[in-house]
Amino acid sequence: MLLPEPRHMPCPECGASVDRPARAAHTCDREHLGRFRFFQLRDEVAAFEDELAAYLDSAHGRFAVWDAQRARP
Ligand SMILES: [Zn+2]
Repeated sequence: MLLPEPRHMPCPECGASVDRPARAAHTCDREHLGRFRFFQLRDEVAAFEDELAAYLDSAHGRFAVWDAQRARP
């Protein structure tokens, strides 16, 4: 069974909701594109900070910090 395709699809480049028939004619709005990329990046940065904090809190992470401090001249 195939689901009917939604009429509006988010543009994979800029995230704008694009009407299907207009999709071929769609060009990404530079401002929208920049904002979209920024928000994607912000999520990644936030995820990285969470992962880093979790790592530093783990036994491996604590050892790595200890080892790095020990190796410092
Ligand atoms: Zn676009």
